[in-house]
Amino acid sequence: MGDRDDRIDRARAAMIADQLRRRGIRDERVLAVMAELPREVFVPDVPAASAYDDRAQPIDSGQTISQPYVVARMSELLAVEPGDRILEVGTGSGYQAAVIARLGATVRSIERWEALAASAREHLRAAGISDVEVVVGDGSAGAPEGAPWDGIAVTAAAPGIPDPLREQLAVGARLVIPVGPRNVQELVVVERRSATEWQESSEGPVVFVPLVGEGGWPG
Ligand code: SAM
Repeated sequence: MGDRDDRIDRARAAMIADQLRRRGIRDERVLAVMAELPREVFVPDVPAASAYDDRAQPIDSGQTISQPYVVARMSELLAVEPGDRILEVGTGSGYQAAVIARLGATVRSIERWEALAASAREHLRAAGISDVEVVVGDGSAGAPEGAPWDGIAVTAAAPGIPDPLREQLAVGARLVIPVGPRNVQELVVVERRSATEWQESSEGPVVFVPLVGEGGWPG
């Protein structure tokens, strides 16, 4: 193995130990997926080992790839099971969608920027992931034609919980979404308990770029 590969492997292992396990990520399936998935493929413009830094990083179109801890926490909270059909809103680099796919789900991911959708498709191909369909559009009202979803992950910050997203959950499924003002939000989990009941919990502060669209902020 070359020096470069060695550095990347060490950075990835340090991410798992220092950023994820130490901060309380307990889902071994999520940890195993993130220990294998090459995050550097999703941020090709930064030095490879830096892809594992403990922070969100800029990607094109003024957007970001989320901090590794946030990706792990959202994946854990989504409680993905093999065979699930998951909707992601906010493809960005494609990394979060890749983690969900490697957990065994089939993913539809919606991105409002055409250029990001195109590069995310390339990243996913380069990582050998075929179970993610990336579509361009406003995902803030979900994707009713594919509902009910076994889980919905929104990776951009909404001013409130869009009603269509609750309605598009299967019974027993979860919506994970950052909700709040533009500068800081709360990570909220909404679980559908029955046709008419939803249970909400707050999982701590996060900072995301805004969800822009019909169910989000004005553009
Ligand atoms: N999940 C991404 C990843 O793993 O790299 C990070 C997503 S980034 C924090 C948020 C993304 O949401 C941006 O790419 C942004 O363009 C997208 N976005 C914002 N509003 C949207 C909307 N209404 N529909 C679809 N995508 C949206």
